[in-house]
Amino acid sequence: MVQRQTLDQLAEYLAYELEEGRETVEQERETLASVARKVKACRRCPLGAARTQAVPGQGNATPEILFVGEAPGADEDRQGLAFVGAEGQLLSRMIEAMGYTREQVFITNVVKCRPPDNRPPLPDELSACRSYLLAQVRRLRPKAIVALGAVPTRAMLGTETAISQLRGQWHTFENIRLMPTYHPAYLLRNPKAKHEVWNDLKAVLAFLGRTPPARQSKTET
Ligand code: SF4
Repeated sequence: MVQRQTLDQLAEYLAYELEEGRETVEQERETLASVARKVKACRRCPLGAARTQAVPGQGNATPEILFVGEAPGADEDRQGLAFVGAEGQLLSRMIEAMGYTREQVFITNVVKCRPPDNRPPLPDELSACRSYLLAQVRRLRPKAIVALGAVPTRAMLGTETAISQLRGQWHTFENIRLMPTYHPAYLLRNPKAKHEVWNDLKAVLAFLGRTPPARQSKTET
């Protein structure tokens, strides 16, 4: 029979562990918040002068998956949030098809300020902004990264290889498994590519030991 004293000690230990866990999550939020503050004050490259708002990214402080896109567009620049326009709505459906909500993952871009006329970020801009993504990845420590499109994939992997050859295969960034796939903007222009993207996302789920929710497995993205 378990002694009363032992039960009290166990309860005390569990309370301590719970408190420690809370503190760890709070610290993670704090460090992510400090990255976001630095991004919002940043003027390291010319994009800082042209933006309405910087877009650090948003989501869960301890996500299984980190989604990384190219750069904010007009809607994101206005709202200060990543992937909130039409492309963002498609990304939401992709995330939901995988069995997650946007609040359970983290979403950001390789470049945190909007390039003029939505042109691709220049090499100098990618280089200037790189440390923020690195800081986020090191604090988030996701189990998997999904790189959305050629720009983030090439920037993170340091390659010029075409996205069509990189997607669907595992790569590594900061010792974390990285799956490149097509950007939602490309899917809006080329809906037929949804099948390939869904295959890529299913590979991510398989790596995480998950299966897509049954009702979503046929509808795809
Ligand atoms: S794009 Fe990145 S490096 Fe350039 S100003 Fe914005 S936050 Fe700074």
